[in-house]
Amino acid sequence: MNFIQENDPAVWNAISAEIERQQDGLEMIASENYTSAAVQQAVGSVLTNKYAEGYPGRRYYGGCEHVDVVEDLARDRAKELFGAALNGDIYANVQPHSGSQANAAVYLAFVQPGDTILGLDLAHGGHLTHGMKLNMSGMLYNCTSYGVRKEDCRIDFDQVAKQAREHKPKLIIAGASAYSREIPHGKFREIADEVGATLWVDMAHYAGLVAAKEHDDPVAVADVVTTTTHKTLRGPRAGLILSKKEHAKVLNSRVFPGVQGGPLMHVVAGKAICFGEALKPSFKQYIQQVKQNAKVLAETLVEGGLKVVSGGTDNHLMLLDVTPLGIGGKTAEDVLGACGVTVNMNMIPFDERKPMDPSGIRVGTPALTTRGMGVAEMRTIGAWMLESLKNPTDAAAHERVRGQVRELCSGFPVPAAELNAELE
Ligand code: PLP
Repeated sequence: MNFIQENDPAVWNAISAEIERQQDGLEMIASENYTSAAVQQAVGSVLTNKYAEGYPGRRYYGGCEHVDVVEDLARDRAKELFGAALNGDIYANVQPHSGSQANAAVYLAFVQPGDTILGLDLAHGGHLTHGMKLNMSGMLYNCTSYGVRKEDCRIDFDQVAKQAREHKPKLIIAGASAYSREIPHGKFREIADEVGATLWVDMAHYAGLVAAKEHDDPVAVADVVTTTTHKTLRGPRAGLILSKKEHAKVLNSRVFPGVQGGPLMHVVAGKAICFGEALKPSFKQYIQQVKQNAKVLAETLVEGGLKVVSGGTDNHLMLLDVTPLGIGGKTAEDVLGACGVTVNMNMIPFDERKPMDPSGIRVGTPALTTRGMGVAEMRTIGAWMLESLKNPTDAAAHERVRGQVRELCSGFPVPAAELNAELE
């Protein structure tokens, strides 16, 4: 019985079309992924009915005995997943509704309005919660930034140190949304120590790589770490905060009641399942394949005439400069969209074009790898991307690629295909 269809066909029609879009197209947005059927089921479960303000054992509502179990499972697994380097001295808060909510709680815990913060420039791959002027971080704090070097588009640690010495930030933020190189967190630690700043790492993009021990681990060197759970970590859309136990009290109170009311217990259940999945050996293999796929895709696109910012990738994503093909990022996003390949346009460092039509696109491999695609598929997809981008006005070529994309996708069902089919 499809209750949504029965009760609200308008909403069902949109969900149904989205099921088809996710199955029939190539999802290459670097921050997206497909959850397992188990995670998807948890997020659609009865736990959505439950209020649970507070923390396990100390709630402001009755009837929390079962959701307490769920939250304890999520916290324990998060600690097991990320706490190895801290020998048990680890605190996890699994309640943030999103990455931005986790980040808001960190600001409330470690800085006062008017304090100086130092983060990666949005135009160089940073995130808007790291000091963009229209975000609460930019409104409440004195924001300074560092960037990447012009020559190689890697983080300029001389500039990080210079900015830190000059502005004496209370908080230094490492982590990025569009940076394809491994971030050496120890270098940020040295600079933070020199100027007496708190070091916060927002590992939202590469948390799955850290979980799989396939990326430099920030948990042991940072004072506090935040992440989303829905990108490379492959869980539900949500956030997570990690730190040593000494910050537990202040972080707990900044999440609730600082920036949130009741936690979304259905999503916390999804996080518990996702952390359990990431603890399995198969997750390490998955992440290794994500990285390998990204490397091969980048090589294929470079051979075909595109420019990869920084010359390559160490992680799950790449920033592509499409201007050598005589088009901008907006056209590239639209052309690929017409072919069933979903990406997002993106500014590249030192971009001379505008945010609504920048020079680049950002492309990632986490979602395709979840479907079981490997390097052979990356070479094929790379060739299709090049063919369509080199013929931006050739609707027949796009239609042809669209058909090939559909055929490829039919051989790689999404993880929740069975669950989705039950609804259809
Ligand atoms: N931090 C980083 C580095 C991100 O890339 C993102 C999302 O793209 C976020 C935080 C925010 O996450 P959310 O969209 O869940 O608020």
